[in-house]
Amino acid sequence: MAKWVYSFGGGRAEGSAAMRELLGGKGANLAEMANLGLPVPPGFTVTTEVCTHFYANDRTYPAELKGEVEVALGAIADHTGKVFGDRSEPLLVSVRSGARASMPGMMDTVLNLGLNDDTVDAIAGLADERFAWDTYRRFIQMYGSVVLGIEHHEFESILELEREKRGETEDTGLDAEAWKEIVAQYKALVEETIDKPFPQAPSDQLWGAIGAVFGSWMNPRAESYRKLHDIPASWGTAVNVQAMVFGNMGETSATGVAFTRNPATGDKGLYGEFLVNAQGEDVVAGIRTPQEITESARQMSGTKLPSLETVMPDAFAELGQTAERLEAHYRDMQDLEFTVERGTFWILQTRAGKRTANAALKVAVDMAGEGLITREEAVGRVEPEALNQLLHPTLDPAAERTLIAHGLPASPGAATGEIVFSAEAAEKLKADGRELILVRNETSPEDINGMVAALGVLTARGGMTSHAAVVARGMGKPCVCGAGALKIDYKAGTMTVGGKSWKAGDVITIDGAAGQIFEGRVPTLRPELTGDFGTLMGWADTVRRLKVRANAETPNDARAAREFGAEGIGLCRTEHMFFEGERIIGVREMILAHDAAGRRAALEKLLPMQRKDFIELFKIMHGLPVTIRLLDPPLHEFLPKSDAEIADVAKSMKVDPALLRDRVIALTESNPMLGHRGCRLLITYPEIAEMQTRAILEAAAEAAKATGEPVTPEIMVPLVGMRSELDHVRATIERTAADLAANGTAVEYTVGTMIELPRAALRAQEIAEGADFFSFGTNDLTQTTFGISRDDAHGFIGPYLGLGLIEKDPFVTLDPDGVGVLVRVAANEGRKARPGLKLGICGEHGGDPASIRFCDAIGLDYVSCSPFRVPIARLAAAQAALHSAQNQTA
Ligand code: PEP
Ligand code: MG
Repeated sequence: MAKWVYSFGGGRAEGSAAMRELLGGKGANLAEMANLGLPVPPGFTVTTEVCTHFYANDRTYPAELKGEVEVALGAIADHTGKVFGDRSEPLLVSVRSGARASMPGMMDTVLNLGLNDDTVDAIAGLADERFAWDTYRRFIQMYGSVVLGIEHHEFESILELEREKRGETEDTGLDAEAWKEIVAQYKALVEETIDKPFPQAPSDQLWGAIGAVFGSWMNPRAESYRKLHDIPASWGTAVNVQAMVFGNMGETSATGVAFTRNPATGDKGLYGEFLVNAQGEDVVAGIRTPQEITESARQMSGTKLPSLETVMPDAFAELGQTAERLEAHYRDMQDLEFTVERGTFWILQTRAGKRTANAALKVAVDMAGEGLITREEAVGRVEPEALNQLLHPTLDPAAERTLIAHGLPASPGAATGEIVFSAEAAEKLKADGRELILVRNETSPEDINGMVAALGVLTARGGMTSHAAVVARGMGKPCVCGAGALKIDYKAGTMTVGGKSWKAGDVITIDGAAGQIFEGRVPTLRPELTGDFGTLMGWADTVRRLKVRANAETPNDARAAREFGAEGIGLCRTEHMFFEGERIIGVREMILAHDAAGRRAALEKLLPMQRKDFIELFKIMHGLPVTIRLLDPPLHEFLPKSDAEIADVAKSMKVDPALLRDRVIALTESNPMLGHRGCRLLITYPEIAEMQTRAILEAAAEAAKATGEPVTPEIMVPLVGMRSELDHVRATIERTAADLAANGTAVEYTVGTMIELPRAALRAQEIAEGADFFSFGTNDLTQTTFGISRDDAHGFIGPYLGLGLIEKDPFVTLDPDGVGVLVRVAANEGRKARPGLKLGICGEHGGDPASIRFCDAIGLDYVSCSPFRVPIARLAAAQAALHSAQNQTA
């Protein structure tokens, strides 16, 4: 018989942590904790397979499910002595979603289920009357909005009116009578809205809630979260039904969240927040100000609110032991939820804690040091893309600044942008290329897309575990939250602090590491690359097989590349050197010359400048390999465009504007992706290749003399589609080199080609016979394979991703079934023709972790990417190597 339900509780469980796919993350961990003998309230998990069945069968359940749920409810009764609907010991449960991957706040939850007009009295007898009726109204409100689809605010306005009537400003001022009255009005609201009374039978309530949780898997919020995090819809969610424990049963009860290490810094030790006399949702909602767990954290924060350590020393000790046990068991930093019910400690959830990149680094390095994990595991623990957070600038300490207000340092990094007060506005303005800071009282799951669009997030309310803080850390965005001094007026579009106002569109800077908000733009500094960062990168370097180079042409970029650990330059685009200052004049003279002699004369002026550039580049790289690409773009890119520009240039060059315009028209390419450019230009104007070859080889000789390190330049020919093109340009290079050698400058060099046209990839075998190396130009290769440029593709990629027509943006990640096939075939065929052919990639994909894994798998020698992505590529290459080693042993 198919098993759809797994029970846990009383020191044992049918499931385990290994069953994450079936039980979801939450269910698998509840089972694991029960097996460890930790105090988990008993319950059961309805599997993700039921979710799949539900959607495949017109939202119906497998026939056996009902019976299995009844058996599982019976098991809860055995552990707790409580039964659904019982008039003296009624069972109340929570019903929560739990997918394989964590999706905080995206799906529905129902608490206190099992309350009705009878059981409320029993709860009143067990606890007290006020508590019982408050809990009942919370249940009707939650069930009413989540399951019955009644607007949350309709319940809220009943509550507000009742408070007003009784002259109370806070819920805490309402007594049992008030809650009874509110419950009556809530029930009337339900009956009016759905034409049926509020369901009284706990089993009806339960099935309603289970259906709502499965239904919420496909809600728009959950769908957009899945899209953002690459979570397939086919995974489905599990449903966890668990006996309620109450953190709101008075002053000896509490609820809280704790990390086993600080999620912002990685420092070892319990870190978290709690509230006395509250239910779990109250902590994350950010409405009351939470208290610190430890006394030391309380002292650091300077708050007067007492710590858990002080007010509940026994629960604190149990939390500490549980945390240690779970971290050692899972061998990773954990994020726990706990409740203390009248002095009894319960653990409700554990999962790997989300952390900032800084914390991820520190935790990984520390845990390897503690012997909890190996160095290889440490390398696998940090998301390469997360390093981006560390490679981002921080505020320049010397820079002048005007502080607006303080908040909590919720997610590190500095961001400057225009104030925007709503998620929708943020999305719209982002589309116009604006840089934004989303400013809200607090954020909720509805704000996700606005948070994606903004560079940073600022909230007036909420703690370190508020929605804004958790989600921003996950996204690697700077966030300051709980800046209580801010008065935000959404209607007026203003943010006011102590009488001074800022409006939407005003520029502010936030420092998420310090929790500060500043007026205007504050200058920033480059990041530090030592400490834990250096240690982990060192470990990554011992593991990886792929070499990592950088795409760089300016001395600044080359220096940054070396600082970030690049092992050479994989692409120097020489055309960038042609645009600078005086040089463009020489380039234009060359283009306008009537014959080869005229062009040579112009190129003669460019030679010393180009040589100087290369000398500097070679010196900075100090013997590391440098690939220099000969001129690539079509010539019209160097000429003026508008009539006014043409007139200007003609005047300064002392030529007839009409002649210049004719030349511009003659040279303009109708297909700038192909046409008269790259190797074809080098064939028709061989003097360009001659000048560049001379500049490269003479510079190599000079740099080698200066540094004492021999330089072997790699000369690269762009846009080759046929073997004969490469041969032709190679002959020009060799002729020039031979001339130089004859005149006393003999330099070793290699000649290779870009593989950036589909034809080149398909003819790789014969092209390899004439090439010392291949470098995959996946920018052009993607464009030419798709027949569309990156900019033109912009319009369809987003919607296509949304419709699931494509899985990844092919301009970001090499698609192993499309452009990736061309790369793999060319690599294989090339090596067949020329064993040991050096293979690299220099398109943007060379800095994308998923593409790097692909490059490692097909045996490329190196990847080359922008200097700032070099550390990301080093770590991704190490993880790729670990992954393939694992696959080989598996
Ligand atoms: C490429 O086409 O991938 C490449 C690196 O060249 P460019 O981006 O200069 O066209
Ligand atoms: Mg190209």
